[in-house]
Amino acid sequence: MTPVLVINSGSSSFKYQLIDMDTESTLASGLVERIGGGFGEGVARHTVHAAALAAPDGPAPTVVDATTTRELPIPDHTAGFRVMLDAFSSDGPSLDEHPPIAVGHRVVHGGARFFEPTVITPLVEAAIDDLGVLAPLHNPANLEGIRAAERAFPDAPHVAVFDTAFHQTLAPEAYTYAIDAEVAAAHRIRRYGFHGTSHKFVSEEAAAFLGRPLESLKQIVFHLGNGASVTAIDGGRSVETSMGFTPLEGLMMGTRSGDIDPAVLIHLARRAGMTIDDLDDLLNKRSGFLGMAGSNDLRDVRAAIAQGDERAILAFEVYVHRLRAYAGAYLAQLGGVDVISFTAGIGENAPLVRSHALQTLGFAGIEIDPERNLAAARGIRVISTDASAVTVLVVPTDEELEIARQTLSVARGTVE
Ligand code: AMP
Repeated sequence: MTPVLVINSGSSSFKYQLIDMDTESTLASGLVERIGGGFGEGVARHTVHAAALAAPDGPAPTVVDATTTRELPIPDHTAGFRVMLDAFSSDGPSLDEHPPIAVGHRVVHGGARFFEPTVITPLVEAAIDDLGVLAPLHNPANLEGIRAAERAFPDAPHVAVFDTAFHQTLAPEAYTYAIDAEVAAAHRIRRYGFHGTSHKFVSEEAAAFLGRPLESLKQIVFHLGNGASVTAIDGGRSVETSMGFTPLEGLMMGTRSGDIDPAVLIHLARRAGMTIDDLDDLLNKRSGFLGMAGSNDLRDVRAAIAQGDERAILAFEVYVHRLRAYAGAYLAQLGGVDVISFTAGIGENAPLVRSHALQTLGFAGIEIDPERNLAAARGIRVISTDASAVTVLVVPTDEELEIARQTLSVARGTVE
């Protein structure tokens, strides 16, 4: 067994997954939330997956594919990790028998500095801290998780996997904003791109599924979840992506506006007296499907459309209009495309979004098969017609597995 522990830490919660990399199956997963003095009781949920029982040499856990919940005060992340370790001890699988050989951490912002998974040292921690200026909601929280995990697992290598790293292959003309160069340089203003772990995973899964070398393929990946982005990938390298300096740019999302004329902000500040915080809140938390149709969940929007709700209909039309615009732009940037993949909550579950996004692209040899598109299937699958020159896929994303893969590849170098 080769267990790798993956940690995704936020400011008041963290998620974890223990994955056996021999089989790439999840042994246990969990969520520790309501961390911090202000919450009273914290909550820790721990699930032991069937794969843990199937392990030939492991002790049988007492709970299988079932979740236990603990409620107790969890004042900080270090206490949260103690609760997690208790859950492993009492419910299994035993970390004493099979300690993680490495711990992988999701880190949102790697700036222009990190372009690959990186073993965490004090210097790397300092750099993640410094990049907190660019991702104030995420990097400090990621770092808190890293420090607590280092205390819980002092003997394992810890590896940072950055959301931005995959997009470090963007060319200057793709990542540069057309503003005063000195201002841009002084404040590190450029496009970074996000969701990189997912875009990398999906494009590699697509190539493996089709049995074609990654290097030979031009791909477009639509990651459509509550956050949404699209990436153009040439030979396995990200060459263009819709999120920019922050995850606000690009597609319309659950609660974010995506692209908007920046002069709207100037206008709202001058004419409506909105503050910087008001504008931040408007664009990040009260826009997208939520702002336009009253819910950030496409399932609610779909139900409203069925009732003839005009706001919901318009929100859906705006959403797919923008998907088409990006599909066209990325076709042009790549000079054609071999594979288009849809992933994440909406991309994997909303056939209507997929068909509308590519509806007008028949002229480019892109043709979705309505039956394949509607089939209630899980797993990676083709939804284009046999005659379609471009293969269109649905590819379930698995960011934790990708973090574990990258962590293992780096950790092996340090362990051996
Ligand atoms: P994610 O961020 O990838 O977890 O995606 C979450 C979003 O996916 C939700 O807010 C929904 O809008 C959407 N979603 C999830 N399941 C479905 C479904 N069965 N049908 C339509 N949309 C879905």
